[in-house]
Amino acid sequence: MSASTLRIGLLNGDDIGHEIVPASHRIAEAAARASGLSIDWHPIPIGRKALDELGHTMPAGTLERLGELDGFILGPIGHQAYPKVPEAINPHPILRKSFDLFANVRPTRSYPGLGCLYDDIDLVIVRENNEGFQPDRNVVAGSGEFRPTHDMTISVRVITREGSRKVAQAALEIARARSKRLTVVHKDTVFKLGCGMFVEECHKAGEAFPDVTIDEVIVDTFAMKLVREPQRFDTVVTTNMFGDILTDEAAGLVGGLGMAPGLCIGRGDIAMAQATHGSAPDIAGKGIANPYAMIESTRMLIEWLGRRHGLPAAGRAAALMTTGIEAALADPATRTPDIRGSGTQADMVDGILAAMERHS
Ligand code: ATP
Ligand code: MG
Repeated sequence: MSASTLRIGLLNGDDIGHEIVPASHRIAEAAARASGLSIDWHPIPIGRKALDELGHTMPAGTLERLGELDGFILGPIGHQAYPKVPEAINPHPILRKSFDLFANVRPTRSYPGLGCLYDDIDLVIVRENNEGFQPDRNVVAGSGEFRPTHDMTISVRVITREGSRKVAQAALEIARARSKRLTVVHKDTVFKLGCGMFVEECHKAGEAFPDVTIDEVIVDTFAMKLVREPQRFDTVVTTNMFGDILTDEAAGLVGGLGMAPGLCIGRGDIAMAQATHGSAPDIAGKGIANPYAMIESTRMLIEWLGRRHGLPAAGRAAALMTTGIEAALADPATRTPDIRGSGTQADMVDGILAAMERHS
């Protein structure tokens, strides 16, 4: 399906989601207009606000509406704070699973002056998104946590050949477009069957990518090396929970959670932009949440859709967003306090818009 107008859903999510999703929308729309790209935006209620107004955190028909789109932006979901009623489900795993979004692409990039531990980090961690330790039994059959006796819990981790192969292929494609090096992070010294299968499938998938060099690093060693010499990594693929932890670690190297964007991709018919961080209720409504992660996730979505649908205007819009983001991040007055800035979120958004205007 190729479209000259992109259809993108706007799902605010909770807490700071109501600030950073509209901010991302404004910037993406401005970049699209300046680049001759047409985007139809579709606001779709989800989360706490949908529960209060429509009686469910994921109202009936949500999946059908999303299924008609090219992609969507999902703000952070604060499901831990939902009331304990059946209508208050966590929509996030359902979205990932329903659209088979098996790869979570999480870049880490340093920008000067923000308090990054190094100024030359540029890596992407591709995290398997739908398997591994999944406490939500409804999502992956057979997985979950069980307490057979009061004093014992069993947590089941699911690894499949198909899931491993699919995420490996997605990571190999990313590696091919970057420096043609892929690092597989695992612990097959201990999890001989699970991690063993994951590693095996990564190498098998790699046979179709002879131009990409694959190496392996054990997860604990990787955690250490990521702090000491992150520059030596380019594209990394790993299982779900290792990826969860390592991407937060990587975010810490470049200024914290506000600097950690993500794009969930799958079979290719739809993609979901989603920042790595949570809904940050402690700072919601104060106007100081860092919108970078959400804006950059949105930019990644537009770039991905541009490639997928062969739309050069989307590539131009994404490049213009990068110009705006880099300019705003370079000036403390247009940065939020978490990244050594003196500005508010609105200052940062205005800074990005102004720089984009200057360059278009
Ligand atoms: P989750 O379980 O959903 O991942 P969490 O418990 O990890 O959530 P977050 O909501 O991610 O928590 O917040 C962790 C800390 O990081 C909080 O102090 C929060 O204010 C801060 N934080 C998260 N996102 C941002 C952001 N975009 N800008 C500034 N600070 C943020
Ligand atoms: Mg978290």
